[in-house]
Amino acid sequence: MNNTSSSNTAASAAPAGRALITPRQLTLALVAALALAWGFLPEFTVSVLSNIGLYALVAAGLVMLTGVGGMTSFGQAAFVGMGAYATAWICTSPTAAAWMGGAVNPALLPWAGLLLGLVFTFALAWALGAVTLKLQGHYLPLCTIAWGLSLYYLLGNMDFLGGQTGITGVPPLVVAGYSLATPRALGVVIWAVLLLALWAMHNLLDSREGRAIRALKGGRLMAESMGVDTARHRVKLFVLAALLAAVSGWLYAHLQRFVNPTPFNLSIGIELLFMAVGRGAGHLWGAVLGAALITLLKEKLQDVLPSLLGSSGNFEVIVFGLLMLFVLQRFADGLWPTLARIAGRWVRPHAAAATDAARPAAPPVQLAHRDLPARGEVLLQATKVSKRFGGLVANNDISMTLKAGEIHALIGPNGAGKSTFFNMVSGVDDPSSGEVRLAGQPMTAKPSRVFAALGLGRTFQHVRLLGARSVAENVALGAHLRARRGWLAAMLRLDRAEEAALMAEARRQIERCGLGAHADTPAASLSLGQQRVVEIARALAGQPSVLLLDEPAAGLRHLEKRALSVLLSQLRAEGLGILVVEHDMEFVMNLADRITVLEFGTVIATGTPAEVQANPRVLEAYLGGADDELLGDAR
Ligand code: ADP
Ligand code: MG
Repeated sequence: MNNTSSSNTAASAAPAGRALITPRQLTLALVAALALAWGFLPEFTVSVLSNIGLYALVAAGLVMLTGVGGMTSFGQAAFVGMGAYATAWICTSPTAAAWMGGAVNPALLPWAGLLLGLVFTFALAWALGAVTLKLQGHYLPLCTIAWGLSLYYLLGNMDFLGGQTGITGVPPLVVAGYSLATPRALGVVIWAVLLLALWAMHNLLDSREGRAIRALKGGRLMAESMGVDTARHRVKLFVLAALLAAVSGWLYAHLQRFVNPTPFNLSIGIELLFMAVGRGAGHLWGAVLGAALITLLKEKLQDVLPSLLGSSGNFEVIVFGLLMLFVLQRFADGLWPTLARIAGRWVRPHAAAATDAARPAAPPVQLAHRDLPARGEVLLQATKVSKRFGGLVANNDISMTLKAGEIHALIGPNGAGKSTFFNMVSGVDDPSSGEVRLAGQPMTAKPSRVFAALGLGRTFQHVRLLGARSVAENVALGAHLRARRGWLAAMLRLDRAEEAALMAEARRQIERCGLGAHADTPAASLSLGQQRVVEIARALAGQPSVLLLDEPAAGLRHLEKRALSVLLSQLRAEGLGILVVEHDMEFVMNLADRITVLEFGTVIATGTPAEVQANPRVLEAYLGGADDELLGDAR
């Protein structure tokens, strides 16, 4: 959806005077309170809390998948079923026992079950993800419904899994000699696993890979241009959510001590999705809140409705559905942001600088560094590039070179084919004929992340930023390829030194582009002109040798334009090759070394600004009534 909308709760800073507690302190206090109360809570409450924990674990995976990654899955309950059935089968089946030669200590069987469940889920989720995540729009949710249903029926129809009756006699979990047979005992494990998972995913989101993950929803084209393999990230996110569901299923099987297919059907899958309704901006704690609300609501409805209506029936399903509709209507962004806004009076968002300083100083890490090519070297070369859209020739045999240390401008009336050409030379689209070479390599059929890896940085005509994230985070995404720590390192917080280096680089580029005062504000709250400059900073963070700028001066005020001119001249002096599409003729004429003029997809002139301005064909194209851009708008 609109990724520049600013619904960031962290940004709506509370008045400092009233703030009493940081989110981290609040979390720790709540966890401590729960831990202290655990031994004294009534049996029933403990059992409900354990169920909430199990649901929240699955919902947290869905918050990552749906809320953050933008991929809707109705089929998550099926993965819970896989985790539950794997352990139930291994713990009870004579076949499984025979396979292991009866040599295994019974106390270890549940762990073998966990392993089996994770391996199975991993393989299945990867295969399903690789096939279905390519689908666009509504097809993906529909597809998750399809495989959610198939897995559910499969579980119910396999004789060795007990058919519709399921499997009974699942043993309790045994840890260090203690049998965790009661909800009170196992609940501790459930909540420990949940909190650990929340911590790991919180860390993941606050990392290099986390920034790439956040770009999956609505920013994939942009992320690819920053070097992110978005298809791979989508599959990984899907697998992560599936594994969390499987772990929840494993715990569930040892809590209930029996399994049957019913809890893993589609309607539970839908409920789980409702729990993750803290979707909007994707808040992890929203999963716990959603799980708690829905579990309690169902509990209450089952109690209250029959006595209220005087007859029993499945009324709770109807009332439940209506309530959900109300919630979706009223709190489109999810409940969590609303709650966070209210709590904002007492909870102060932790200041990034303060926590940075509180961290132990990590040894400095060097980001990958690229030497700039020698001045005059050909960086980007287009040879007879054509692009046809059906009968329309948007680009007709365009040849052009860009050298290190020069600014080359591409101008032409609207619809001349400038943006199309940009897409050809940045890997967004392939030419119908002709060839593009970058750093000497033929680039036909290569995706834009390969262009990024070879040193091409770009901005977009229609700004593509993660609006709710800070300017610094947006710019750090540009340096994605200069660091390498992956998901696991991020989850375990082993990436802090590298992360610090990335953020330092981002701040350096922001400073250099004159936006130092805005580094910590959400990108969407900047003016359009400033957002364009953020895009330039993001491109520069990747240390490009080729810079493609699509209308960088649009929306900038006079002084900002001048500052941009100075910056681009400076980059040229450092040896970058810059290709710029721009409408502001005064800006272009003063800045560019060479200009290529397009009309109806064809090059009609190329040369220095003076040559182009004197060219009769150019004058005709611009003055002949087609457009009045060359008349100079010196705003
Ligand atoms: P410019 O950026 O110079 O204003 P564009 O490159 O956006 O021009 O468009 C050039 C021509 O190609 C226009 O006539 C436009 O309608 C057409 N065009 C651009 N993209 C597509 C597309 N994906 N499908 C069909 N026609 C397109
Ligand atoms: Mg355009």
